[in-house]
Amino acid sequence: MLKVYTCIVAEHDLRLVALAALICAMASFAAVNLLHHVNLSGHAMRRIWLAVAAVATGFGIWATHFIAMLAFQPALPSGYNIALTTVSLLAAIVLTGVGLAIGASSRMRYGRWVGGMIIGGGIAVMHYTGMAAFEIAGRIVWDLPLVAASIALGGLFGAAALPVALHANTFKWKAYGALILTIAICSHHFTAMGAAAIVPDPRVVVSAAALPKEWMAIGVALVSTAIILLAGIGLVLDLRDLRRAGETARMQDMADAAVEGLVVYNKTEIVAANHSFVALACVDGSQPVGHSLAFFFPAALEDQLMDAALRPLEVELRATDGSMIPVELIRHDIMYAGKPHQVIAVRDIRGRKQAEEEIHFLAHHDPLTKLPNRTSFNKRLEVEFAAHRNSDRCVAVLFLDLDRFKETNDLFGHLVGDAVLQCVAEKIRGVLKPDQMVARLGGDEFAVIVPGLPSPAYATRATDAILEAFGETGVNLPAGVTIGTSIGIAVFPNDALDRATLLSHADAALYEAKIEGRGGYRFFEPSMGDHLRDRRQFEHDIRHAISRNELRLVYQPQADIQSNEIFGFEALLRWDHATRGAIPPSVFIPIAEECGAILKIGEWVLRAACAEAATWKKQLGVSINVSAVQLHGGNLPELVEEVLKETGLDPSRLELEITESSLIKDIGRALMVLRKLKDLGVQIAMDDFGTGYSSLSNLRAFPFDKIKVDQSLVRAVDTSSEAAAIMRAVVGLARGLNLPVLAEGVETDAELSFLRAEACDAMQGYLLGKPLPIADFAQHTRGGTTATPKRTGKRELRMVKTNAA
Ligand code: C2E
Ligand code: MG
Ligand code: MG
Repeated sequence: MLKVYTCIVAEHDLRLVALAALICAMASFAAVNLLHHVNLSGHAMRRIWLAVAAVATGFGIWATHFIAMLAFQPALPSGYNIALTTVSLLAAIVLTGVGLAIGASSRMRYGRWVGGMIIGGGIAVMHYTGMAAFEIAGRIVWDLPLVAASIALGGLFGAAALPVALHANTFKWKAYGALILTIAICSHHFTAMGAAAIVPDPRVVVSAAALPKEWMAIGVALVSTAIILLAGIGLVLDLRDLRRAGETARMQDMADAAVEGLVVYNKTEIVAANHSFVALACVDGSQPVGHSLAFFFPAALEDQLMDAALRPLEVELRATDGSMIPVELIRHDIMYAGKPHQVIAVRDIRGRKQAEEEIHFLAHHDPLTKLPNRTSFNKRLEVEFAAHRNSDRCVAVLFLDLDRFKETNDLFGHLVGDAVLQCVAEKIRGVLKPDQMVARLGGDEFAVIVPGLPSPAYATRATDAILEAFGETGVNLPAGVTIGTSIGIAVFPNDALDRATLLSHADAALYEAKIEGRGGYRFFEPSMGDHLRDRRQFEHDIRHAISRNELRLVYQPQADIQSNEIFGFEALLRWDHATRGAIPPSVFIPIAEECGAILKIGEWVLRAACAEAATWKKQLGVSINVSAVQLHGGNLPELVEEVLKETGLDPSRLELEITESSLIKDIGRALMVLRKLKDLGVQIAMDDFGTGYSSLSNLRAFPFDKIKVDQSLVRAVDTSSEAAAIMRAVVGLARGLNLPVLAEGVETDAELSFLRAEACDAMQGYLLGKPLPIADFAQHTRGGTTATPKRTGKRELRMVKTNAA
């Protein structure tokens, strides 16, 4: 150590030593910068920058050595052998180049350490070759341990220099690396110089060809300038890299802010991606950089991707967990890191796809049962027609209509009705084969397509399966109600060749099946259309019954059971059809309700009955039947108010009869309508009590003024103890609620006696009088004095002996 110190201080010009150190530091810094640049360069430029770095560093080591040699001032003549001097320079460049190449390569595990050590070796080779080129009038005696130490110092510091310099692309780490490299060169040089002792020997003559020191000085000055230049270039490059790194970072920040996924692609691999893409595609936390586009978009072809610049491309993205995500790609060409790249925007379209699917599903399915709708049914039928047109097989269409569905809906409400339809859909779907299709055409109408039948008779297999499914358990409803279905069958091409006709034939067959009895099926027969046409004609006639003057009212008296006094009449509708004759209300009222004609008819009844009652001298009551359709569909309170005003009838004389089942359809609305009617001063009676739900809570909830007990309960009260018990219970119940009870359909004296004994309030029935035109009751309606019904008096019942209308 002392020897090295003495060598530097005593035998060297210290100013030149400082210059050597400066040159060395600059060369090292240039080397480190250039090495970073090598790492950032593309494939083609990499070798060029590696060569530049090798030359700069090699020259730097060489110049450091020779400036230090210029600083070395032995008092003997000296010079430099040109050939060996050149060899020493080349050795420095080549070995440094090899070391840098290994250090910059990412393939070798400890490449940076090994590369650095090779550079250290290069320093030693250069130095000792350079010393061999040094000619002096004397002999050089080597201190071998110091020689070994010089090689070791160069190697060790050299080895450490590259890992430090390449640790990060920041000025700090580059400066550390350059410093260690400088230490490697300088420590080696001065230790090696300390190892050399020059023993003057006059026999040794410096050759004439040897390069004089002055020349050497010029050469070194040139080399130093070159190093400074290269260092400058390195610095410029470095600044550019920094700027680019800043731009890239800004781009990355912007890209990360984007909601859509973005990847930058260099036609070989992905070089950058934003957070959104990583979150979408790399669910396992891996990085997309380095993968090809095909890795994420296996189904997208290269030229399809090229087209994505013109219009968005819909493909599937394969995420790293293997899941496939529908996405939309849009491509743009960009300059990235100074080179042409492509940026691909990746939009997740799962939400859109799902919405599209839902819209498509809604357009083709019934939302309640999820079965295909009429549109899908028609489409499928056309497809089957095309497939069967030239074959020896046929297609059957089954039309299904649920038995008593309307009643169920009215009685139990829409929620139960919906549950029934869903359950029915499930049952039918459950028994069909994969090539058969069931659709809901609307309401309680279902239709089934049964293709590929060898003959029409084979359709019964599907029909039987469906009826069996209904038969097994029925549909689970409150109060143990089960629902069945009737089925009509028409077959292509046997019954019809076009869809419209085939469907109308299936409908006609269904109509027949319903007439025949519930829970059956019928194949279409040509004569069947007649029934359906008949029904249509009937509906048409009902709609025109008012304008054709075919409707009239008959009146049935109602009397107080105890006083026998008639206190009012129930108005009952009669239809005298021009060709069919008298049609009973039990036949035409339900049809009028189904086709909607009841609204107009009901209004007519209300006007006619009120107008009639207003003419009576006696202030008797008039009862009018109100259908569920009127209660829920029309503007009943407004209409009643208007008619009362028009006719001048005292509202307290009007009684509206409402059946229990019509309330249950929509309890809230029914209650509202009844309250409005009550506010007008009108009376409300519950008609046909005992035939429907017979619920105490309904009696309590609604503002009834009277209960009319159905004739089915009245019948046989005098003979059947069971009927008597029920009647007694009903009268007791009504009494508890403080409601008067009117017994309907009283036909015999025995029935009357029973009712009187049970203190029933009022009666109506053939015993008192059959429904007749009001003129037949003139004696009652024209009476002089007021006839407010009295329920207590014990007067004789005046029987009205007339024939029923
Ligand atoms: P409802 O309101 O219960 O009327 C009583 C029915 O019982 C009437 O039948 C009447 O003729 C019948 N009847 C009365 N006393 C006796 C009897 O002692 N024995 C028997 N066997 N029957 C008796 P009608 O006139 O055939 O009416 C049947 C149903 O048609 C009515 O039952 C009512 O629900 C409905 N209806 C009648 N007219 C109208 C109307 O103007 N509008 C509405 N919406 N429905 C009406
Ligand atoms: Mg009635
Ligand atoms: Mg009744």
